[in-house]
Amino acid sequence: MRPSGKRSLPVLAPARARANDSPLAQRLRRELRGEVLFDAAARGRYATDASIYQIDPLGVVVPENEQDVASTLAIARDAGAPVLARGGGTSQCGQTVGRALVIDHSKRLNRVLDFDAASASVVVQPGIVLDALNAFLKPHGLWYPVDVSTSAVATLGGMAGNNSCGSRSIRYGNMVHNVMAIDALLIDGSRHHFAEVKSCEVEGELDASLGSPEYLELVRAVRAIALREADELERRVPKLLRRVAGYNLDRVSGTPFNMAQLLVGSEGTLAWSSRLHLKLSPLPKHKALGVCHFPSLHAAMEATRHIVKLEPVAVELVDRTLIRLARENPDFRVKIGRFLQGEPGAILLVEFVSEDPSPPARDVDRLAELLADLGFPGSVVRVSEPALQRDVWEVRKAGLNIMMSMKGDGKPVSFIEDCAVPLEHLAEYTDQLTRVFEKHGTEGTWYAHASVGCLHVRPVLDMRRDGAQKMRAIAEEAAELVQRYKGVYSGEHGDGIARSEWIEPFFGPRLVRAFGEIKRLFDPRGLLNPGKIINPPKQDDRSLFRYPPGYASQPLATVLDWSEWGGFDRAVEMCNNNGHCRKFDAGTMCPSYRATGDELHVTRGRANTLRLALSGQLGPDAFTSREMYDALELCVSCKGCRRECPTGVDMAKMKVEFLHHYRARHGVPLRDRLVAYLPRYAAFASRVAPLANWLQSATRGALGFSRQRTLPRWRGDFIRGGADGTTGSDTADEAESSNGVALEREAPRSEARHGGEREVLLFVDTFNRYFEPENTRAARRVLEAAGYRVQLAQAADGGRPLCCGRTFLENGLTDQARLEARRVLESLGPWVTRGVPVVGLEPSCLFSLRDEFVSLEPGATTRALAQAAFTFEEFVARETSAGRFTPTLRALPQKKALLHGHCHQKAFDVMRDVERVLRLVPELEVESIESSCCGMAGSFGYEAKHYALSMRMAELSLLPKLRQTNEETLFVADGTSCRQQIAHGTGRNAVHVARVLESALAGSARKA
Ligand SMILES: Cc1cc2nc3c(=O)[nH]c(=O)nc-3n(C[C@H](O)[C@H](O)[C@H](O)COP(=O)(O)OP(=O)(O)OC[C@H]3O[C@@H](n4cnc5c(N)ncnc54)[C@H](O)[C@@H]3O)c2cc1C
Ligand code: SF4
Ligand code: SF4
Repeated sequence: MRPSGKRSLPVLAPARARANDSPLAQRLRRELRGEVLFDAAARGRYATDASIYQIDPLGVVVPENEQDVASTLAIARDAGAPVLARGGGTSQCGQTVGRALVIDHSKRLNRVLDFDAASASVVVQPGIVLDALNAFLKPHGLWYPVDVSTSAVATLGGMAGNNSCGSRSIRYGNMVHNVMAIDALLIDGSRHHFAEVKSCEVEGELDASLGSPEYLELVRAVRAIALREADELERRVPKLLRRVAGYNLDRVSGTPFNMAQLLVGSEGTLAWSSRLHLKLSPLPKHKALGVCHFPSLHAAMEATRHIVKLEPVAVELVDRTLIRLARENPDFRVKIGRFLQGEPGAILLVEFVSEDPSPPARDVDRLAELLADLGFPGSVVRVSEPALQRDVWEVRKAGLNIMMSMKGDGKPVSFIEDCAVPLEHLAEYTDQLTRVFEKHGTEGTWYAHASVGCLHVRPVLDMRRDGAQKMRAIAEEAAELVQRYKGVYSGEHGDGIARSEWIEPFFGPRLVRAFGEIKRLFDPRGLLNPGKIINPPKQDDRSLFRYPPGYASQPLATVLDWSEWGGFDRAVEMCNNNGHCRKFDAGTMCPSYRATGDELHVTRGRANTLRLALSGQLGPDAFTSREMYDALELCVSCKGCRRECPTGVDMAKMKVEFLHHYRARHGVPLRDRLVAYLPRYAAFASRVAPLANWLQSATRGALGFSRQRTLPRWRGDFIRGGADGTTGSDTADEAESSNGVALEREAPRSEARHGGEREVLLFVDTFNRYFEPENTRAARRVLEAAGYRVQLAQAADGGRPLCCGRTFLENGLTDQARLEARRVLESLGPWVTRGVPVVGLEPSCLFSLRDEFVSLEPGATTRALAQAAFTFEEFVARETSAGRFTPTLRALPQKKALLHGHCHQKAFDVMRDVERVLRLVPELEVESIESSCCGMAGSFGYEAKHYALSMRMAELSLLPKLRQTNEETLFVADGTSCRQQIAHGTGRNAVHVARVLESALAGSARKA
């Protein structure tokens, strides 16, 4: 089957720089209240979405309000400039890339405007994200049930634009079934309420109350085309739930009909939706899940058509490859092990819901009986516990993400990833398409919506080499198969650039002409999202690719080791623009975006800017330009993306690489030098602590630190050791009450202080040595009380104390950081060889040993140290499991601890250990706060220019949660800067876990 692509879209603007001052940009700036972004880097960040395409937009508008959008449309109309609406930009087919003026309404137009629980309806602005809407609805027992996998980032405007579909569409339908009406702006400036036209109105005259005369005229014209094409629509449109191609003309040919349904799925080519009127559903009270095991994909696909007769709300496929990949992922291995039996060829996740508890369980019994009848007795694992059900769905939802983490040039590419076929053909279709892949020397992983015959599959292709040819060949053969089985080529993700040219082969020229007429009715000059659905370019036009012919990165002598990815540029290119970093509720990633809402400050925006700069698309020297600095400045190096980005984009590490080159070109400002070299002058400053404290307080404003902050105070009772006048280990035993936290002085010195056999090397970081030495002493006491012989790590050269180099890394002084790393490796190497564990208290410092060192000084000693280095809690948890950590701990006066995890603790997945260790304290209830970065992030929050943002980050969830508690609740935070931020924001102190344990040691009866 050969589709007919009509023309090519232009890719990159010839004069990127000049666009910033174009008359269009100037007029927009004059007339809008919102942001107008026309610079090359900003345009570059909007040139891609989760597809393989890249097209430089004319510019970007981030409207402040609806009026801004109306003005933008008017200005664009006058200038003859195309316009492109954009929400989360997570489209997989290139819907949101184009040579147009992009309107990003996700930042400000994201409110619930009206809600009526009684009628289960809500009116929202287009930029609201689905999870945000559902969080709002949950207390009312309602939800919006189009549960797309991208629910944390997809906007309702975008979901309507693409006619999105969720895992439970077999019960709830797609967007088109759940949008009641849309208020929309047309390019001519008119506003209309697109809604249902009732039977009586259809048959007689249209009621004037439906809208303006222009709207009624539009309705009549649309209706006339739909009725004229009714027979062709009947012939051509497949009778499947999952069909999202072309315009929904068939939905306005019946009686009654709803004009909003024509806008749904129109991909921003007909109008800009300003308000969506949505139908809500009751939240199911009870759910039951059966995990069905099959020996092969074929068997699972054969069984699906029988399973749906039991009326489940979801039947989702996970195939053998995905199971294997999930098992290789440390995060999913444990989860999947809890519900998987043996080595199945495929599993189906079958969910039932009900209002009362017994029926869903009975449904799973019926499912088990059915499968036994089909020849698979004992193949169903029942999952009734909600937490485990969540784990099961998490593995399924992560399907694409697990696949996309593939390194190297070959990547799973989406272009036939959502074809849908009738269930009776599903098994045959998957067999046949697998053979097509084999023929072209590739393979695909199958997963997703078996219930509706819509399976996701992405062949692995190298789009820089022969990917385009293979894509075309596979697309054509797949299309033939889908047509043979009377299926749908676009069953979920829409048309965009990847599939619009396939509308004609499936719908025929007559309907394509009718679609063209519809387009002209709404948008006669073709200004709304051109090239999508109507007059599309060719899917495999390589000039539209993110990696077009000739794409190459400029050579860069990197300072870190990027060999794991095949180079720095390849690591940057791991970002596939899926937009997961725009999530706002769970996890850490990405705190700066959560605070600003700007594409510039999200991991994706940063990765895109880096990629464009490295490949020369932003002009010469762009990599070390001010624009590049702007993109990375607010990255707080939390490493949230390192863990939570599905493809493992590690922006904190990339920032280290960037800062090295940037500082080499532009120099290091005095304030940053003071922070970077702090470990070098710390011993001196501590010895003259009163003077140093006075001096830093007096000069902080002039140096660029916020006057609203108190800088950490130097302590005269710092931990001695090294070339600061002492050589032995710390012996200070005096009472401390830093931060006003009273500690028991008579904490018992275990008999094992010097006598125990088990050795531990305590790595004392700069902060817990000079600013809060009581933490180091607490850790030492606790470990000694448990029978460990504790040594403080000393420099092998007998010189100044060891340092992980973090302050240097964060300020672009990578060579100095490397020096520190070498000293640490040289000093700790012999201990590690002897098998002595290295334990650290400050998460960011300790994890430097496991993370940055590996990039700075790759080698066997580094790897060995990385294996031997533990945070205090990791070590205690490990030893507790082994039965070696058994000191007597007593209950504290405080019965509840609120725990704030340091971002790096979350990034390295050690929070469970922290909680576990705190729970060793009898009667202590431990609650982890759902928070992202505290906003302090090393020196970031101390800087005057970052103060406001730092507080905004803290106020997102951390500080409000802490303020809700009473005085008796213990605040626990292991990060020095986190404790500073908490003290600053609440006026109360948080303590390190080591101090909590120290207070609970038998004999310590006072408050922690
Ligand atoms: C990992 C991954 C998983 C996915 N899973 C699913 C899934 O389970 N189900 C599914 O259906 N899709 C899925 N998608 C595709 C995508 O996430 C959805 O289509 C999503 O609904 C798009 O939302 P968005 O806010 O990103 O929209 P965008 O991509 O920004 O826009 C989508 C379309 O809507 C148009 N549009 C946006 N706002 C307006 C407006 N106000 N007026 C008019 N037109 C507008 C845009 O021009 C564009 O054509 C997935 C994508 C990825 C990357
Ligand atoms: S940085 Fe990661 S999470 Fe963000 S868009 Fe890129 S791949 Fe997705
Ligand atoms: S390191 Fe943190 S702040 Fe920086 S991009 Fe990643 S998630 Fe965002």
